[in-house]
Amino acid sequence: MILLDPYQLEKYKTNMGERIIEVGKQDHTIHGYMVYQCEHCNNIYVMWLEKGLEDPTDDEKTGMHKPVPFGIICPACGGTAIHTLWSLGKDSLGKNYKSYQKYVEQPNRLIYRNFFWNDPTIDRGVPIIFEPDYCLESLRGRIDYITEIYINTLPNNQYEEFINNAMNALDRVTLVDVVASIELLDFKGNREQKRHGPFGIDGYKRPRSNKKLYEY
Ligand SMILES: [Zn+2]
Repeated sequence: MILLDPYQLEKYKTNMGERIIEVGKQDHTIHGYMVYQCEHCNNIYVMWLEKGLEDPTDDEKTGMHKPVPFGIICPACGGTAIHTLWSLGKDSLGKNYKSYQKYVEQPNRLIYRNFFWNDPTIDRGVPIIFEPDYCLESLRGRIDYITEIYINTLPNNQYEEFINNAMNALDRVTLVDVVASIELLDFKGNREQKRHGPFGIDGYKRPRSNKKLYEY
């Protein structure tokens, strides 16, 4: 395992800062993503892929394959972050091309800024790393970061659908509370109403459209 010494790490971070400025001069088209985790400090990096990197759609046009490295240097500690959670992002490769600039400027949305840049002069993807997406501290006691990555990397239409379904689910939780308190207060309510609640017989049923929420 590579571990940069403090001097090398400073140099790496300086270079990364310059690289970030350089690539920021123009927009980039991104498609899928891959998740990397540092073997030394456990930090997590969600790495978007610029068009042409690990991109089966582009491979078909060019007849070539341009990869990204299996390991990248973790700018937090100088250790090596390696590709992990391989199934995450796999289905998005070569699909849903979008503007990186528009993506990072979205309000009210958890954004992952790191990505692999497709530098035409280099035969593999070049990591552009702003900061870790999840650090050891925030991972402690948390098991939901994988779900969070999954949700927040969905294409916009699927993301909206997911949020709407989640909102419906939340409303239903509130409804159940309301029904429970009404039933407690209203001992004399008619039997029919008691059995089904004021919202009818289907009041507690989860609609079919919410299926996805629990099954991905
Ligand atoms: Zn690290």
